[in-house]
Amino acid sequence: MLKGKTALVTGSTSGIGLGIAQALARQGANVVLNGFGDAEGPLAAVREAGKAHGVRVAHHGADMSKAADIEAMMAFAATTFGRVDILVNNAGIQHVAAVQDFPVDKWDAIIAINLTSAFHTTRLALPAMQQANWGRIINVASVHGLVGSAQKSAYVAAKHGIVGLTKVTALENATSGVTCNAICPGWVLTPLVQKQVDAKAAAQGISNEEATRQLLGEKEPSLQFTTPEELGELAVFFCSAAANNVRGVAWNMDGGWAAQ
Ligand code: NAD
Repeated sequence: MLKGKTALVTGSTSGIGLGIAQALARQGANVVLNGFGDAEGPLAAVREAGKAHGVRVAHHGADMSKAADIEAMMAFAATTFGRVDILVNNAGIQHVAAVQDFPVDKWDAIIAINLTSAFHTTRLALPAMQQANWGRIINVASVHGLVGSAQKSAYVAAKHGIVGLTKVTALENATSGVTCNAICPGWVLTPLVQKQVDAKAAAQGISNEEATRQLLGEKEPSLQFTTPEELGELAVFFCSAAANNVRGVAWNMDGGWAAQ
């Protein structure tokens, strides 16, 4: 379905981004990965996912908190694969503290990585998408783009912000073949959430299993994690022809979290 297209997925050396990159490769898209840490393992996993289509993969290690890095990454994608047809803004970090105690540098980093980076990638990807009259921008927001939780001021502000950016980008391109939508997961057991489970277990002196059970029980009625594979399939749907007129939605996959 996506053969000949190129996808760039930010923050895709781990977790949800890697799951989405694999799902897009399975549909035949070439993929530019981004993110910190080992790139060889993720590159091999995405190459393997797209083996039937002979997809090409590359990695750029741009720091999503730096506009100049993002510009270099977008230029790299264009020179390596010709154009970015599918942009997935996924890179994100978390920090947990009350507003009055929230470290200013953590606030700035979360807003830069979780929100401002998507503005930069979007503004840089749009001209070629508009010229081709086809493009898909998928913003990995969160259920925290729709509702709040205590201790997560920067994250919730950034995620509400990216839902807003999604709507405006969708509206500005509404008469074209370029769509923009957001995905809003509930809990997904990635390193980002494992840190929160570990912190809960340590703070309460409880086991990892009990901390996981409590974490899900507090917010997620299904008592189940959403998986990167399921989120990957939602991204594939947004890229399909069936989603040509899906514009500006914030689609939660959250086990009923936001339905409460
Ligand atoms: P993760 O920690 O597994 O992966 C984060 C990725 O972002 C990694 O590849 C990391 O290297 C990269 N990254 C971090 N800082 C970066 C930077 N400055 N520049 C470039 N890359 C950077 O996290 P995840 O859980 O897969 O989260 C991915 C996205 O999904 C985030 O935007 C997160 O907010 C969102 N999300 C996660 C959950 C969840 O429960 N895990 C729920 C809702 C939304």
